[in-house]
Amino acid sequence: MTNQFIQTALALSIVLFASACQTDRDKSKNNTATTPPTEVKNEASAMSLPYPNTPDEAIARLKEGNARFINDQSAHPNRDDNRKIIQAQKQTPFASIMGCSDSRVPAEIVFDQGLGDLFIVRTAGQAPATASFGSLEFSVAVLGVKVIVVMGHEKCGAVAGAIGTTKLPGHIEDLVNIIRPGVKEYIGKPEKLEEAAKANVLAEVEALKKLDPILAQYVKEGKIKIIPAYYHLETGQVEFL
Ligand SMILES: [Zn+2]
Repeated sequence: MTNQFIQTALALSIVLFASACQTDRDKSKNNTATTPPTEVKNEASAMSLPYPNTPDEAIARLKEGNARFINDQSAHPNRDDNRKIIQAQKQTPFASIMGCSDSRVPAEIVFDQGLGDLFIVRTAGQAPATASFGSLEFSVAVLGVKVIVVMGHEKCGAVAGAIGTTKLPGHIEDLVNIIRPGVKEYIGKPEKLEEAAKANVLAEVEALKKLDPILAQYVKEGKIKIIPAYYHLETGQVEFL
């Protein structure tokens, strides 16, 4: 295939993807119109934060949000009614988070961000797949995110499974097999779970940096950064590796 053909196919795919998202939004809007809201007003804040213009500004905003969360001073920004209306027209995430499905690691909470701020891809052990790659490429090429954070965490069950020697049932074994190449030196060493989880993150970051045709190009041109992180369950700290 020629480069031109690839570019044309990519552009067409993005248009179709964007159209599908629009259709979903329209459906959602219609559902909302026929269903009265039952949610009680909560602590949603009118606080809004400026959109970061560079990868470093985006990283700084994530670090500031995590510092608020660690200190139990979350500001819950960008969650008021006005934000809902603005984001209904067009989402404007500034960062993508490729994280674990673990229920203790929800990105919007640990980074104290709001509606339309973060584009999230979550699988157990943040195991990458073609669907994850396409999602991240969409967030970069179409939505214009400035940074991709690959975030592992303490006591990750998927990584524990990957370094274990027991065959796991169903598709769980398929999942851990995706993780295994990045943690092979820790297989059979359950006491090395933290080292393995960090090695997994670093391997995933390196793979994304080389991912053609979109992410590798954006990294090379300095338009985005792809960075590793590790979440500590008890303190709430996101450690950037
Ligand atoms: Zn996990």
